[in-house]
Order: sequence, then structure tokens, then C-alpha cells
Amino acid sequence: MKTTLKTSITVKDICEGFVYNELEGKGLFGLSGKLTIQPEYQRNYIYASDGGKREVAVIESLLKGYPIGLIYFNKISESSLEVLDGQQRITSVGRFVTDKFAIKDENGMEQYFGGIAKDKKAMILETKLLIYECEGTESQIKEWFKTINIAGVPLVPQELLNAIYSGPFVTLGKEEFSNTQNANIQKWGAYIKGSADRQAIFERALDWASKGNIDDYMSLHRNDKTINELKKYFNSVIDWISGVFTDVESEMCGLEWGRLYETYHKKSYNPKKVSEEVQKLYGDPYVNNRKGIFEFILGGSADTKLLEVRVFDDATKKAVYATQTAKAKTKEKSNCSHCAIGHDANKSKVWKFDEMDADHVAAWSKGGKTAAKNCEMLCKTHNRAKGNR
Ligand SMILES: [Zn+2]
Repeated sequence: MKTTLKTSITVKDICEGFVYNELEGKGLFGLSGKLTIQPEYQRNYIYASDGGKREVAVIESLLKGYPIGLIYFNKISESSLEVLDGQQRITSVGRFVTDKFAIKDENGMEQYFGGIAKDKKAMILETKLLIYECEGTESQIKEWFKTINIAGVPLVPQELLNAIYSGPFVTLGKEEFSNTQNANIQKWGAYIKGSADRQAIFERALDWASKGNIDDYMSLHRNDKTINELKKYFNSVIDWISGVFTDVESEMCGLEWGRLYETYHKKSYNPKKVSEEVQKLYGDPYVNNRKGIFEFILGGSADTKLLEVRVFDDATKKAVYATQTAKAKTKEKSNCSHCAIGHDANKSKVWKFDEMDADHVAAWSKGGKTAAKNCEMLCKTHNRAKGNR
């Protein structure tokens, strides 16, 4: 790969013909059309988020004469360049000189580029940038792009995969799943954690459709001209979740919906009954893990381990053990009630405290409380045999 350091390109040159696309959230072109600022494998513009602190910081650096760091271009031909690294900074500058956002002056007044003093304008426009122009094959450039992004604001794994498998499929996928203007994003966000512009939804869609093999799936579909299969699968999962669970609870966000869909979508559920059960479990003080409620219900309300139902504390267990054991000794029977009614040698065995476990007499799932009155100590074997009802 060949690299050339350029030191004479100014902010003014870069901003010549700058276009910002509000819908895609991308700075598109600069350098009189010669420069593509955000090629399809680049992340969206993120410096305007969080109140725009980062884009303001870029402009303040220019005004103070601070360097804004190295910028890397990929030279595609004599008349065409792409930004490999620096697109956030370039987009900040381009957005400022086209009056897309304001900075505060020394009196705390908001000032757009069009309104600031001539010398300040000149200072920004005449700033020379440090730019490396690189020439190489697609794979060299991508490998290198991967390396430079290990430093700086790291790319999330899906952004990296988008770079590696850039092409029509990724472009369409981002248009559908990473476009914050898409009206569905809010609905999807109820079930999927992370932000759409950092590829969280696209990543989940790929993860579900590929059953966890995103890499292979992207490689296989890289040159597809449609994302219909991906969309169809993704929408089936979303429709299934919102069909079974009519209430949206915050604990639903980020669950393994892909796996749950694969496991349970062929079973039928009564959404009204499901909703009642969800509400009942939300109101149950013994349920320690609310995230487990959804899988618990999908699986037929049997696996109480998913709910991490509150267990008996040590003081309760010891008190119950003492009473039970004293009683058993007077009768010369085992202190495990199940052993006591048996016919083998254990029928008169007195188990030690740590050889026993606490059991709900009336199962928690049938309304039994986690209180001393409902606690019985059983030998480990019998407790295990009784299981989690
Ligand atoms: Zn026993």
C-alpha cells in the first residue's frame, strides 16, 4: 500500500461543494465533488448526538489553532477519493460552514458560521489539514481500516463487519435497520438493546436470521440486491413477540428473542391469559428475576429456576431443622419425612443440617410462600427428587 502525506489541503478546499444528507445522517461529498466523505462501509455521523458537544469541540479546536488530528483518504483514482478515517471531523466542519449548527461565543451567545467575525471565518477556512492519501487494493485498505480503528473511537463489531462485507446488501440493510428516521425504530427498541445508528438493530436482525452466524450470513449475501429474506425473518420475530406479549415491559429489552422465537413460535398462546400471568408475576415479591418471566411463561410456567424465586434464608432453615430433628428423635424416625415413611435403612436416619435442603411444602408456583410455615427440610436426595414444582 502506498501512502502520501498532504499538508496543503485547507478546510475551505474540503468544504467546497459539501453536502450533508439529513435523512441518512451522513456527510456525503466535499473537495468539489472529488471526495466521498462517508462511503457505505463507514458508520453514520455521530458527532451531532449527545447535544452536539463533539462537533462543537472540533470547531473550537480550529478556532484555537489546535490540530484536529490525522485524516486518511483512500485514493480510488486521480479524480476520486474516499475518507477512510476522519469523516466525523470533516462532517463537523462541513456542517458548521454550511450553518447546520452554532457554537457559543465568549459572551455565551449562539453563533452560526454566517454570523461570526471575518477573521474567525478566515481562521477556520484557511486551516491546513494533515492528510494521508493511501492507495491499495480493497482488501489492503479494509485490513488497514480495521487496524486504525482499534485506536480512536472503536468501531462496534457490527460496524466492522459492515466495513468488511460492504456492498449492496449492507447498504440496503443499513437503510432499513440503521436509519433513525425509520418509524419502526421505536417499536424495535422495546425488544432490542442499543442504538440503531451504532448498528444494534441491524446486528440483531442478522443474528436472528443467521442463528448466530452473522459473519457467514453476511459473506453469503454480500452481493444480494435485496434484503427481503432478512426483513421477513426479522419481522416475524417482532410480530411474534408483540403478538404473544401485548404489554411492553422494560425487562423485555435485550432478551434472546431470536432463540425464544425458534424454540416457542410453533406453540399457541392466549395473549390475554399471558398478559394476566405477566402482571401476576410482576406483582409477586418472591420473583427475583423479572427478565426470566417471559421465557417462564413461554415454556408453560414450569421452570421456576428462570424466575430465581426467593429461597429460604439460613436462619429459617436452621430453626425448621431444629424443630423437625427434635420431633424425629422422640419418635426414633428419620428427620427427613420422606425417608421416615420408607422401608430401607434410612427410615431412622438423622441427617445433619448440611445434608439437607429446604423445600416449599406448598410449591411456590401454586401460591406457597417462602416463609417458615411453608418450609420443610428434606434430605438432599428427596429434595432433588421433589424438584422444582
Ligand atoms: Zn429423605
